Amino acid sequence: MVQIKRNYKFESGGTVYRCKRIRKNGKPCNKLEFTSKRKEHNNRHKGAIIASAKNIDSERQYEEKLRRENSGALVFQTGTECGPPDIVMYKNGKLSFYEVKPTGKGNDSLLKADQAKWIKKNCLRNNIDVYIVHYKCRTKKFTFVKKKLSKKNISMYES
Ligand SMILES: [Zn+2]
Repeated sequence: MVQIKRNYKFESGGTVYRCKRIRKNGKPCNKLEFTSKRKEHNNRHKGAIIASAKNIDSERQYEEKLRRENSGALVFQTGTECGPPDIVMYKNGKLSFYEVKPTGKGNDSLLKADQAKWIKKNCLRNNIDVYIVHYKCRTKKFTFVKKKLSKKNISMYES
């Protein structure tokens, strides 16, 4: 027996619900999940929110760091456009780009396909310096490790 209501009942037992939480992209999650796993599922949303807040914070903090260490340079975030790295610096007539990622083994720590493509086309081909910056976050303190990207090593950082 299947009830098409807010809660679904299956013969196999256990109710499921449809998650209506709004995700980062502004759309509802819409996933069917067992009611017994609601807490676990909600925690996954919470984790995603914390992760995205950390990403935003890490970019802002790295921008501040670049500004502190390069007085007189023009440093700004590129915004939400797909492709260009998060931060650009213009110093002594030279451009450099910085893509900030969490440290780790997953795809989040690597360049997305459109980012790698943009970097190859616009930076590496034109000899513009570009760095991948990995952050670690303990409590509220961020540490950063930057690595210069090149035609030779970029494939190591592609997801
Ligand atoms: Zn959900």
